[in-house]
Amino acid sequence: RELRYNPILGQWVMVSAVRKNRPWRPKNFCPFCPGSEETGYGWEVLLLPNRFSVLSFDAPKLEKEGFYKKARAIGQCSVIVETPEHDLNDLDELSLEQMTKVVNLWKEATRELKENPHVSYVAIFRNKGEEIGVSLTHPHGQLYALPFIPLKVRIKLSNAREHYKRHGECLFCRVLEEELKGERVIYENESFVLFMPFFANWPYEVHIYPKRHVQWLTQLNEEETTDLADIMRVATGTLNSLFDRQMPYVMNIYQAPFKGSYPFYHLHIEFYPLLRDRDKIKYAAGIEMGAWEFTYDGIPEENAKKLKEACRKVFKELNA
Ligand code: UDP
Ligand code: ZN
Ligand code: ZN
Repeated sequence: RELRYNPILGQWVMVSAVRKNRPWRPKNFCPFCPGSEETGYGWEVLLLPNRFSVLSFDAPKLEKEGFYKKARAIGQCSVIVETPEHDLNDLDELSLEQMTKVVNLWKEATRELKENPHVSYVAIFRNKGEEIGVSLTHPHGQLYALPFIPLKVRIKLSNAREHYKRHGECLFCRVLEEELKGERVIYENESFVLFMPFFANWPYEVHIYPKRHVQWLTQLNEEETTDLADIMRVATGTLNSLFDRQMPYVMNIYQAPFKGSYPFYHLHIEFYPLLRDRDKIKYAAGIEMGAWEFTYDGIPEENAKKLKEACRKVFKELNA
């Protein structure tokens, strides 16, 4: 395993042969259920080392080579098992209490990795649904402790830094202020807002911003932690009720990197739901993969309205 640098994009690629061996949707066995070799008993949430990790804290040292740049694949890939219950579909099916335990695990893992000098960035994400290629159905998220800052995050940091320099305000705080005036807010509680951004790429893309200007999950107090658990349940519940079927999606938590100072940055969460209709997938294809540019097939405000209706329905059920 190693990191290879693409000088054309200025981006690292994590290379590893072990990834090929991971099981694909095993029928009568689940490595994340209680009592398996890896999990044991007596837990409510679990952070497990990924068995097929592309990164490792004892990744081999590398020989210097010619033109191309390589680096040690130092870091960690973990699986976040969100419940002992195998058959739940999504986070909205967890109790508020259980979801709060998941958020606390995200916080604890972040706190611990922040102390590790090898780790530059922690990516916490969740792949949901067969359509996105989830290999195990037991509810789980993942965590990558990376030795570099991902390209997309570097772009976000650079725009936020520039905006701060020019206007003396946080770009994310400003976006939130603008969104709160408008018609794309889906839901809010005391500490967080769920909205479809002005510039959504995916037909039902939604973001979650904390109202308070913080950079890391570790800065959230107890009340904000519960509020994040609440809005995560509402967000996933809304997506699942939209077409009366489970919504496949990718969710990413964006925190500030660990090395350096990022007072201008703002914690946020993004959901990229795959469906554009009940049985139609929006594929990232030519223009999306080739140019990293999206066409939005529809009118964001109309789709936000549908999400709001779905949310109203779900909110009652979640709090019944
Ligand atoms: N995995 C594991 N232990 C196992 C079987 C699988 O840690 O016994 C890991 C596997 O490497 C994979 C993850 O569990 O990364 C399941 O992740 P998911 O289905 O979300 O997506 P993938 O990473 O496979 O694309
Ligand atoms: Zn299971
Ligand atoms: Zn801010």
